Amino acid sequence: MTDDTEFTQPVYHEEDTNAEYIADKTVAVLGYGSQGHAHAQNLHESGVDVVVGLREGSASRSAAEDDGLRVATPVEAAAEADVVSILVPDTVQPAVYDQIEDELEAGDTLQFAHGFNIHYGQIEPKGGIDVTMVAPKSPGHLVRRNYEAGEGTPGLVAVYQDETGDAKGEALAYASAIGCARAGVIETTFREETETDLFGEQAVLCGGATALVKQGYEVLVDAGYSPEMAYFEVLNELKLIVDLMYEGGLTEMWDSVSDTAEYGGLTQGPVVVDETARENMEEVLEQVQNGEFAQEWITENQANRPKYKQLRAREENHDIEEVGERLRELFAWAEEESEDEEEVAE
Ligand code: NAD
Ligand code: MG
Ligand code: MG
Ligand code: MG
Ligand code: MG
Repeated sequence: MTDDTEFTQPVYHEEDTNAEYIADKTVAVLGYGSQGHAHAQNLHESGVDVVVGLREGSASRSAAEDDGLRVATPVEAAAEADVVSILVPDTVQPAVYDQIEDELEAGDTLQFAHGFNIHYGQIEPKGGIDVTMVAPKSPGHLVRRNYEAGEGTPGLVAVYQDETGDAKGEALAYASAIGCARAGVIETTFREETETDLFGEQAVLCGGATALVKQGYEVLVDAGYSPEMAYFEVLNELKLIVDLMYEGGLTEMWDSVSDTAEYGGLTQGPVVVDETARENMEEVLEQVQNGEFAQEWITENQANRPKYKQLRAREENHDIEEVGERLRELFAWAEEESEDEEEVAE
């Protein structure tokens, strides 16, 4: 693990990238899920030679072929490629790396979209190769949709191992080919990307937001309000508030809600998410930084995920899910969203 506490973060755009770095190369995209399908198709349409690496009998094979892409096994694809983009789930990456390691020749690149396995030592890449990261800061279906619309998705770029001296140039060329440089590519490190990503999804985005929603829902329903009203107030409307923050930050959100909502929010928000919550967040960050969370998740996977399955079942059975399912049927927009998700979940 590196200990680079001084973060300098240049942002790169199209004019800072040079397609020559990748023009004559073959890129193997291993996996055809959320990120894989987007990277493979965007690279291909940007004129890069792409081969998708999938296991024999993988359900994604026909999807990749239908999208006009060449498909081989992960080992065949890695053998042929100069750049191997490893876009299978993080938990299976170490096993896939073991299969393809011998196919990586001096000067080849092993590329990630998330730093977990490198940062926590689950993959120890061989010498003689470059190791980089190009990580779009969004789900794959948006990476694809934005590219098709001529727009970009912001991304991160990082270099872990630079044997050729070209690692960053090549990663930026890749970032440009998948559309990220149209929006901006921020330079980071494997450590910073991994730790901030885990903290963000645990404390705020996935963990924090769902815990806030569930507690708010329970408080209203326990006080005798209808589940339908509670659902709309604490879950449905959350998207509208987040959209405003996404577009114009906190200020635009506060400007858009009523003065009453603004005053009440500014005074009561810190009462709910108080100093204790901050201390809990610091504890979450600590466990990310010292590798405790990573070890727990690795052990959980080795044991076939007992706690994960239990927690997931409990979440699916929460009352708010039943109410939400009924209410969302009333909205056409919800149907469109779930179609998008099906596309991703192939
Ligand atoms: P995913 O679960 O959507 O896709 C997995 C793909 O890998 C599928 O095509 C599956 O068939 C294939 N696969 C599974 N096991 C395999 C095996 N043993 N051998 C070969 N192929 C196998 O994955 P994802 O969410 O796109 O994640 C890929 C990488 O991108 C991860 O490192 C993740 O952290 C990173 N990432 C994801 C997102 C996101 O929003 N999904 C965003 C940024 C970065
Ligand atoms: Mg090779
Ligand atoms: Mg993330
Ligand atoms: Mg993540
Ligand atoms: Mg309201």
